[in-house]
Amino acid sequence: MPHEETCVSCGALARERVLEAAVTAGREPRVFNLLRCSKCGLVMTLPRLARPALEAYYQPEYWGRVDADDPAWVRRDQASRTSFLERFRQSGRILDVGCGLGLFLLALDPERWDRYGLEVMPAAYREAQRRLGTDRIITGDLSAATQPGLQFDVITFWDVLEHLPDPAAALRQASRLLRPGGLLLVRAPNFASYLARRFGADWYELSLPYHLFHFTPATLTRMLEASGFKVRMLGNSTGTQNYHAFKHTLLNRLTRLHGERGGRLRYYLAKPTLRAWAAISARGGGGSSFELCAERLAV
Ligand SMILES: [Zn+2]
Repeated sequence: MPHEETCVSCGALARERVLEAAVTAGREPRVFNLLRCSKCGLVMTLPRLARPALEAYYQPEYWGRVDADDPAWVRRDQASRTSFLERFRQSGRILDVGCGLGLFLLALDPERWDRYGLEVMPAAYREAQRRLGTDRIITGDLSAATQPGLQFDVITFWDVLEHLPDPAAALRQASRLLRPGGLLLVRAPNFASYLARRFGADWYELSLPYHLFHFTPATLTRMLEASGFKVRMLGNSTGTQNYHAFKHTLLNRLTRLHGERGGRLRYYLAKPTLRAWAAISARGGGGSSFELCAERLAV
């Protein structure tokens, strides 16, 4: 088990162990450690599994229920993302990194948005290509989107940055792909949230071992500033998303402590109080995830 790691954000050593958790995929439980960088505070998962090893942990239902052929469903499903985007920009050329099935891009008005997506998972990008066009969905990482004359007004990372093996390198590449004054929008789980601090390994958005990094508004701001960005707005998801994370987190904790049946019984007894508990707790340390808008500075 590695006990230290060089930080991808600042180059210092991460040694402080903040959490240890066992995760089972198929047969054997495997132990993962979260280490915190002594200088910038970034938290990382070790061992950091590469894609083929990670795939064993992905469940077939990972994409959840989707109804991509129904435009009204897609707009509803993506409303929190599109409304966040349209607080800052209403039109332009946009790149969605880790676009999955392409739902966010599909929810944008094609009259106003020139839409591009990047996706590495083959099944997902073929599906996204079918809906948005083979010239619009690029397979690979950000370097694959580098084409002469192709610059973007907006780049989005919705629940993606924490999955990348080198998020700092991805942000530097994103900064080169954006025109000066272009915007970067990020949503990520918040390791400083009440749920993360209070529930540790049971926190629903910890998602080991897929989440290779665990950001807070402060650690992501530092990484962005080092990559040529200035954070313009930081927000907290304190509504439905936080409540959803809260329910699953509590269920994780109760079934771990009391077994499947005993845990579920206690969960249903507590359920009427959860919405209020979730709302109040989000005021201290923020909701289970956060979102931000950063501007690419002129070099
Ligand atoms: Zn660091």
